[in-house]
Amino acid sequence: MRNIKNPAGFVRKRVGDLSAYSVEPIPAEVILDANELGLALPEKLRKKIDIAIAGAPLGRYPDPEAGELRQAIAKKEGCRPGEILLGNGSDEVIQALIAALCDPDDKIFTVTPTFSMYRQIATYLNVETVEEELDDNWDVKSGDILMNIDKACPRIIFIASPNNPTGATFNRDALASIMNTAEGLVVIDEAYVDYAERNIGLLYEERSNVAIIRTLSKTGLAGIRLGYLLADERLIAQVNKVRLPYNINSLTQAIATEAFNNWDMFAALFEKVKAEREKMFTKLFVLKGVTPYPSEANFILMKIEGDTEAVFNSLIEDGVRVRWFKDARRLNDCFRVTIGTEKENDRFLKALSGAI
Ligand code: PMP
Repeated sequence: MRNIKNPAGFVRKRVGDLSAYSVEPIPAEVILDANELGLALPEKLRKKIDIAIAGAPLGRYPDPEAGELRQAIAKKEGCRPGEILLGNGSDEVIQALIAALCDPDDKIFTVTPTFSMYRQIATYLNVETVEEELDDNWDVKSGDILMNIDKACPRIIFIASPNNPTGATFNRDALASIMNTAEGLVVIDEAYVDYAERNIGLLYEERSNVAIIRTLSKTGLAGIRLGYLLADERLIAQVNKVRLPYNINSLTQAIATEAFNNWDMFAALFEKVKAEREKMFTKLFVLKGVTPYPSEANFILMKIEGDTEAVFNSLIEDGVRVRWFKDARRLNDCFRVTIGTEKENDRFLKALSGAI
């Protein structure tokens, strides 16, 4: 007998109710929708990477502990290799953290709007997400957030700083109070930290309830998928139990090791992006119909007056793809635009001026 049942019915309801993380890859010449670094890596670094790739042994499993890479990160961060957990992108680090720290029906806590994967991953792991609404400056109100964290008793608090998609960092007093009073682990996601005024340093050395996420995705190496967690080694050893074997492939290990061993070569790229961001902000600020929000990341969030969909479509017609949060409650009239090369940024600004 033929079985004609729809096999999609085999999945759990929680998964069935989710929407897959999707980006609409509308073809465009100028791609400013994914917060990648649009500038080319320095030729000297690219050559070192090419040599490392050529020598990578592909017939064997990769080093399961990625020892050389963790050494290189430890040197760059000034920490010990045992304080580092690697992920296939920081998404995988977030997944490992929730899987290791939360039982079904436990809670994680974050703000809204923020990076959507905290909630997405928690949902399919049967973990509830409690969100604190950000104020009009995309900041947290200290009193409220402390009260709500206290009420929710979350196992993990995720704070992306700078935040995605707002580009804002949070007031430091509020963050300090959260770290002082929260019972759960406070994870500061510093995916965009290379474009910010300051980082929080290796705070877990003083406060063992803090962990830090970083990634190479925003620094010119999104294609290799490497994110990492920095935390007290006792926590790293536990979370490491849910990391899948060989999760960092040989090519990624080889390329990322070169990147961290030559980290000084990235500084000029970050400076260039920051300078372009300030130029772009100033131009957007005087453009009628557009309200940009100050950013410490490699993108700018902006509110568009009038018909946002028409403006978005007009940008696409002009060959420029930006991120439009068309279904998000407070962001449906906002674009998030990655800082690209000078030429790309000019092309975006020209297309936007013509569209509004
Ligand atoms: N954290 C934040 C705040 C992000 O914006 C992103 C990517 N959009 C990630 C983590 C995930 O980055 P990746 O998995 O590429 O390291």
